[in-house]
Amino acid sequence: MRGRVLIIAGSDSGGGAGIQADIKAVTALGGFAATAITALTAQNTEGVHGVLPIPTAFIRQQMDVVLRDIGADALKTGMLHDSATIAAVCDGIAAEAPGIPLVADPVMVAKGGHPLLQPDAVETLKRRLVPLASLITPNLPEAEVLTGLRIKTEAEMEAAMPALLGLGARAVLLKGGHLEGPRLVDLLGTPEGILRFEDARIETRHTHGTGCTLASAIAVGLAQGMPLEEAVARARRYVRAAILAAPGYGRGHGPLDHAV
Ligand code: PLP
Repeated sequence: MRGRVLIIAGSDSGGGAGIQADIKAVTALGGFAATAITALTAQNTEGVHGVLPIPTAFIRQQMDVVLRDIGADALKTGMLHDSATIAAVCDGIAAEAPGIPLVADPVMVAKGGHPLLQPDAVETLKRRLVPLASLITPNLPEAEVLTGLRIKTEAEMEAAMPALLGLGARAVLLKGGHLEGPRLVDLLGTPEGILRFEDARIETRHTHGTGCTLASAIAVGLAQGMPLEEAVARARRYVRAAILAAPGYGRGHGPLDHAV
């Protein structure tokens, strides 16, 4: 099965993160990527230099025309910018894509520190989007904002899982990349328990777009009919290979190489 993924996210002109990373990941893993763009960013490896939000009615129009004609086997959300955008996207999912697996990456801040979600939108994200998700993929700072908990160790990651699952998504991939140390641990929490994924950490500054890439790689696995655990395992292998092959472009956090 090829796997159609509708990606609802922001554009990164630098080609490293956002919609561009999403399309590359879905395509590299054999899927078909369609997009509803929520915001344009003027961005390079050094950071986000400008943001142009797309009017919510036009975001919704992009979703509706794609879903009514092409259809989708999975949805992926990334940068949603503000509360009105989240509301419009959730209305669109409820109306046109109920029951289609949704991977929601709760994007809040870019690596360079630029906000990609207005702070007052976190409540809308929790109340409207998270309960629709088959999987949310928070990193540790995002999980701290979502739960109000302190998460600075692997033990605290495990301890936070009930609160994260309590937000209403059917599964949570809590990404441990922000911890220090030679190992990188991600935890996949479901009502059945916690699965641990572990690798050696890759020391590099070229990690721009890893979160977007991972979430899209999981979404295409679900679109292709993989069980969640297998989709996560393949996505982690893909992101690892893409980091190892990173071309080293730019003066900041460079992009990955998706031709792996
Ligand atoms: N730009 C856009 C449009 C994004 O959607 C994201 C992440 O989701 C980023 C930038 C941030 O990527 P990173 O944190 O890897 O720099």
